[in-house]
Parts: sequence; C-alpha cells; structure tokens
Amino acid sequence: MNLSFNQIEAQLSKGEITCVALVSNYIKTIDDNKNLNAFLEVYADDALAQAKNVDEKIKNKTNGRLAGMVLGVKDVISHSGKQLRAASKILQGYTAPYTATALQRLLDQDAIVIGRLNCDEFAMGSSNENSSYGNVLNPLDNTKVPGGSSGGSAAAVTAGLCTAALGSDTGGSIRQPASFCGNIGFKPTYGRISRYGLIAYASSFDQIGTFTNTIEDAALLIEIMSGIDACDATSADKAVEKYSQFENKNQKYTIAYYSEALELQGLDPEIKSKTETYLAQLKEEGHTILPMSFAFLQQIVPVYYILSTAEASSNLARYDGVRYGYRSTDSHDLESTYKTSRSQGFGKEVKRRIMLGTFVLSSGYYEAYYTKAQQVRRLIHDQTVAAFQTADFILTPSTPSTAFAIGSKTKDPIAMYLADIYTVQANIVGLPAISLPLLQHSNGLPFGIQLMADKFQEKKLLQFSKQLLR
Ligand code: GLN
Repeated sequence: MNLSFNQIEAQLSKGEITCVALVSNYIKTIDDNKNLNAFLEVYADDALAQAKNVDEKIKNKTNGRLAGMVLGVKDVISHSGKQLRAASKILQGYTAPYTATALQRLLDQDAIVIGRLNCDEFAMGSSNENSSYGNVLNPLDNTKVPGGSSGGSAAAVTAGLCTAALGSDTGGSIRQPASFCGNIGFKPTYGRISRYGLIAYASSFDQIGTFTNTIEDAALLIEIMSGIDACDATSADKAVEKYSQFENKNQKYTIAYYSEALELQGLDPEIKSKTETYLAQLKEEGHTILPMSFAFLQQIVPVYYILSTAEASSNLARYDGVRYGYRSTDSHDLESTYKTSRSQGFGKEVKRRIMLGTFVLSSGYYEAYYTKAQQVRRLIHDQTVAAFQTADFILTPSTPSTAFAIGSKTKDPIAMYLADIYTVQANIVGLPAISLPLLQHSNGLPFGIQLMADKFQEKKLLQFSKQLLR
C-alpha cells in the first residue's frame, strides 16, 4: 500500500476512503510486517482518535494541508507525552515534555503520527545494527540491512507502513538508508528546519528531513517544516519558497561530478558504470555535464568522524543517570552513579564515539585533531561551494554499495564509516542533498543517485529531482 499523499487526498475528496480507514489499514500493514522491526511503538489508539478528528475537519472543510498524511517519526524527535529513546537504554522511562518545532508544524496541519521508528542508538550508525531494540530488516531483502541511522524510517516507507517518515541526517542517515531501501531521502540545508526537540548528536551537522515515495510529498513536508524558530538560534531567517509548487517545464542544468568519486576504491563497479551511463544520458537530454576535481575525498570521512564525535561527546554528557533516563542500581555515590549508569546505559558504538570525541578534544591532542579538522572543514566548505559558481548541482552515487548483508560490517567500524563517503560532504558544508531511487543493480537491489545543491536551493533541487523521476 505505497500510497502517495496526492492519491490519499484524491480518495479522501471523492469520499472513497476516510482517515480512520486509512490509519486502520496502516496499523494492519505494520502488524503484518512486524518482523521488519521498523516501529518501536505504534500509537494505534491515538492515531485512530486523531484520524477521526481529521475526518470531522474534512467534513466541515476546516482541515489543514496535511489531512490524510500518516507519518512515522524517528525515535530522536520529541513528541510531547510520548516515549523517546534515541534507540538507547539510557533514555529508559523518558517521556518527551514538549514537541519538536518541525513535528509541531506538521501536526498543526493535521498530519497523523502513527508511531515511533527504530534507528541506530543516538543516530550513530549506517546499518541500524546499533539499536538497543534490535536491528531493522530491509523490506526488499530481509537478509540485508536497511541502512542507518534512520533504518526504521526508510524501511517503513518502502514497506508501506506509513505515507512518509521523518528522519535526521548528520552524515547521511537519511540519504544512505533511502538509497538502500529505494525511496526518496531528503536532507535540507543546515538551518532550514529547526532542530528544537531533535535529540542532538552533532549539533553543527544535524538536520531533520524526510523519507517519501514521491517528490511532491517531500516538497510539501519540507515546506511546512521549514522556517525560522525562536527556539533554535541556528534556524535560518530566510523566506521559505513554495517548494510544493512545481513548474511544468524541463529545464537544462549544469551538473558537476567528481572524477575522484567515481574512481574510489571500494565503489561497486556496477554502481560506477551505471552512474557514468546515467551522466551520459543526462548529457544527451541537453544538460551540461561538468567533470570536476575534489581534492578532499580522502579527508571527508576522517573530518566528519573527528568533529561529529567531538560534538557528540559534549552533547551526550547530559545522560548522567541523574537528570533523566536510566540510573544504575549498582552505584553507591555520585561518581559511581555516573560511571555505572553510563557504562550500562550506552551501547558499544556510542561509547566508542564518546571516547573518540573526548580524545580529540583533550589537551595535547586538541590542536592536532580538533583544530586541524576544523581547518580542513573550512577548506572542504570553500572548495565545495566554489563549484556552485559554475554548476547547479553536484551528482554522486548516494552510496558506494547496495544494501549489505546483516552482520557483514559490524566487526569493522572503519568499513562501516566508509559507507558514508558520498553523504558526509553535504553535512560538513551544510548543503541540501537528496537521494533519488533512480537505478537498479543486477543483484536486484536499488541504489540512489545523490544530488547536492548550493545552500537554500531546495526549490531548484526538488524541481530537478521531479524532472529526473518522471
Ligand atoms: N552513518 C553516519 C554515522 O554513523 C551518519 C549518521 C547520521 O547521519 N546520523 O555517524
């Protein structure tokens, strides 16, 4: 039941379905697909009550723009009165005291939230194998990972368990799982959408975004969520364009690609050749294809992991066993409360990153790692942004491989980190980027094409994406 919001709206307006029937149907589908482990919690009663309410509003013609949109929400986005875990044991028993601004804006337009979606613990991971609540299966092949960290969101949209899903993207956590599951994953410009109410992983990289089956759904959700928020000082004071209004014309663009990115060791040869063929096809369609050089391909993953772990070590200091969440009973004083609560509450990958982050921030190593990485971040930023003086978009594969087998990379964190090679650049620089399900591997799995655009060029990026998906 992979319905788009357009289809739902059409059926609602003709009276062919009701929101109650729609939500009941999703609840049943979720139940039938329990083995995927995509949802950590299904709000069956609340969602049905809200559906009834929206049906009433539709009847009275007082409904908002999202009447009939049934959403799944990644377990890192606060929803007042609902449990929130970041897929971690350390947040056991925690209830969100307020709603994230982004989600509130969707609720104000009558979106219905059907449940809380599984992910990697604190959004750290590329395979959803770091969740404290079990891994998620890829709906296209149950022996494969769905990607991460928003694996539950990606799996839910592909399996038709909701109309769309919210995720967060710090280094690729929306685009990589979208590529592995064959749907559309969109991460807007840093600051486009408020982070208020999003559990912080690496605050200068984090951004909320969407998983959808259609580009129209992505545009509508992003349009509604975007805009300045007094609760987030990094939210941009920039007018929100009408992303959901597409122009019906075929524009010709200049599309850059990095030669180094296609020569990458570890890139699946078929992804390489099909991406090249795709570029040739775009050229034939009248677009200008521009080969470019990018000097920092080998540096982007290290820079990302130095800076994101540094920020994470600071952000995760608040989980101390005192203020909220899990507190170990094996402690006898303040110090041992911190130690045992954090040792027992956090999973292995989260601990690894807190230690890495603490290390790169420690005196003696700060200059060599943190400061150096900040300097390289600036160079990457400047070189990337300079490309947009001539190009409209930068095109890469979204991922170097298709969805990999469950367990195949868990013993090798570096191999896992390299799964992010194409996606982290957009977060390092703060660019909007999208993964489009355009290509298919002969192994039967899909893979995405990623487009990055200049800051705040969401409208252009969505417009071109629509052209490509046609
Ligand atoms: N896979 C990356 C990581 O493990 C990205 C995570 C994310 O975007 N939240 O950090």
